[in-house]
Formats: sequence, C-alpha cells, structure tokens
Amino acid sequence: MHIRDAVFLEDLCPKLRDRRWRKSLHEFTAKSCIYCGNNSESIDHVVPRSKGGLSITENCVPACLSCNGSKTDNEAFNWYRKQRFYDPRRSMAIKAWTEGDLRLALRLLKWAQPKQKKSLEKSKSSVNEDYFWQTA
Ligand SMILES: [Zn+2]
Repeated sequence: MHIRDAVFLEDLCPKLRDRRWRKSLHEFTAKSCIYCGNNSESIDHVVPRSKGGLSITENCVPACLSCNGSKTDNEAFNWYRKQRFYDPRRSMAIKAWTEGDLRLALRLLKWAQPKQKKSLEKSKSSVNEDYFWQTA
C-alpha cells in the first residue's frame, strides 16, 4: 500500500485512523499493560476524559481491562502508587510517555520487564514512527 493512499483513506475515514492509532499504541508496548505488564486490551486515558484528558498519544496508554476498570476516574499516578504491582520504573515510563518521550518510556518499560525484551524490540521495529508522530 502506498503511504499517500493510506493518508488519503484515513482522511476520509477517521475511524480507520483511530483504529490504526490505537493499534500502534499497543504495538509500542508489545501489547502489554503499561501499569502491570499483562495483556493490554484497552486504551487508558492517563488524565480521565471526565477531567478534560484528551485522546492524544501523550494521554493514552495501553492498559489491561483490570487496570483500566480499577483506575476509573482516579489520577493515574496516585492510583498506580497504591497498586500491589506498583513498579517505580513503570511509573517513570508512564511519566515519560505523558511527556511525549516514547523512547525513554519504552527503555524504562524494557528495564521493568526484562523477560519481554525480545517482543518489545520486535514491536518497536514494526511501528512506522513517521506515521506515529504525525498523529501524535
Ligand atoms: Zn494492567
């Protein structure tokens, strides 16, 4: 598929763009929850939409349904500190993510879960970063 065609198609179809964007978020963490490391099945708003959080990359992280459901409208970092799976490296990764420093976030996540090193590297290379930054 030609890149130009893809952009054109996405302009016509915002839903497709949204789906690809969500997929790219999951690919960044190799489909693991940024909070606990389980399979990410949803996108969580770090600042809840009810509190004015935007649906942009910096505010949206891959999360499992359990974390997403338990966090609800709480402030992400306060909520996360109280969880039994709390990991300060993940907390730093989330902070880096919200500041738009995806590279740092991924490095910290890799450090937090060395077992998944391979899949993280694989997912990194499969993501089209140019596309990613255009949408961010
Ligand atoms: Zn989780």
